[in-house]
Amino acid sequence: MHELDTTLVAVASPPGRGGVGCVRISGNRSEQIARRLFAPSSAGRAPVVGGRPAFGRFLDRRGRPLDHGYLVLFAGGASYTGEPTAELWPHGSPVVLAELVERAVAEGARPAGPGEFTYRALFHGRLDLARAEAVRDLVDARTRFQARVAFQQAEGALSCRIDPLRETLIDWIARAEAAVEFVDESETHLATGPFRRALVELRAACDELLRGFDRGRMVRSGATLAVVGLPNAGKSSLFNRLLARERAIVTEHAGTTRDTLEEDLDLDGIPLRLIDTAGLRQAAHPVESAGVDRARRARAEADLVLLVLDGSRPLEDDERAALAELAHPPERERSVAVLNKCDLPEQAEVAGSILRVSALTGAGTGALLAELRRRLVGSAPLEDPVISDVRHATALRAAAAALGRAAEADRAGMSEELVLEDLKEALARLGEITGEVHVEELYDRIFATFCIGK
Ligand code: GDP
Repeated sequence: MHELDTTLVAVASPPGRGGVGCVRISGNRSEQIARRLFAPSSAGRAPVVGGRPAFGRFLDRRGRPLDHGYLVLFAGGASYTGEPTAELWPHGSPVVLAELVERAVAEGARPAGPGEFTYRALFHGRLDLARAEAVRDLVDARTRFQARVAFQQAEGALSCRIDPLRETLIDWIARAEAAVEFVDESETHLATGPFRRALVELRAACDELLRGFDRGRMVRSGATLAVVGLPNAGKSSLFNRLLARERAIVTEHAGTTRDTLEEDLDLDGIPLRLIDTAGLRQAAHPVESAGVDRARRARAEADLVLLVLDGSRPLEDDERAALAELAHPPERERSVAVLNKCDLPEQAEVAGSILRVSALTGAGTGALLAELRRRLVGSAPLEDPVISDVRHATALRAAAAALGRAAEADRAGMSEELVLEDLKEALARLGEITGEVHVEELYDRIFATFCIGK
């Protein structure tokens, strides 16, 4: 997918209009191309590689001034990509940005594909794979907490944990290789005690990283919450209350929420997608019936289910049945029931404790949000997880399994050659995380998920 000889160009700022935009040109010809698009202002300083941003005019294809802005020229060692790079900062006008990209292409640059700048940064050793992915996650972050975790990973939080494990493994692999190579020399045999201890410690380190993954995954990908209940229980009202703004249509007629509505909520840093569903009951109308089907699906797939009951009237049989279902696994783990309309006299009879809320006044909604958070990630303060990407977790699990097999083979007195195979497998799997193992296919898959200009 990626060749490294051409000079790339792309808009690096987000689509749309803004105060400032950025066109990035990376590669050996970047300076030459950028200078063709730029005329420094006579009073200002001329652009210099490694120098400060130079002010001037950007020129259109006929050499006419197009916009004011800055040109910055980075030396290879000091740029994001590790290559000589020019950044053009005009105003954030899509027309100006598109014209500058077109002009750069006319001068010999090639439009960059998704993640291609970051690929070059990786290739030139400016980043490792885990950090490159963290840059993507930082750009994609929907909550401040997500952004912080991604930034820490971009700073190397994950690589710092993986690298020492790889080094220890490489050390033991070298010793095992020696043991295989020089079978007859007793001093090259693996020292059983230290070797076993090292395996146990390596395995424990992998497991420790994996333990944080469930939380990490929540932080990275977020969770879904399906709001279910009979028509008129107050689902849409509660949905709006939780979102703290009016989004769903609220009416007094049963069955108005025929489609599902989805909105994101920042639950203490976890992006929670609320899905307001159609009422769960047999629908007479075909349009409503399609909505009910969708509601069932949303409910089946959601990480959490919020059952909303109308506390101001006696419970119906369906509601009692739904409550009973929630009391047992597997539904118990992912469901929360609330008695809504607690501002009105209570008519519903519910055995056991249940959260009481009022979508109308907001009473009890703080406790409800706390309960939802507890179900997702427990009640302890949210620690910054190191492992949040399923690709990393998969590689780490495979590494841990290979270490387990190595330990077993060693205990069973198998040949050092067999143990060595498992150690190498573990090393390769750890290497996949930081990209030490060059697997072209893997790279293509990951970089396809980047946005263009990054
Ligand atoms: P849905 O069909 O379950 O989505 O229910 P809605 O959110 O459309 O609400 C049905 C009716 O109940 C509306 O008239 C709401 O104003 C009313 N309602 C919802 N929540 C409350 C509440 O907490 N207290 C009171 N008094 N009325 C509510």
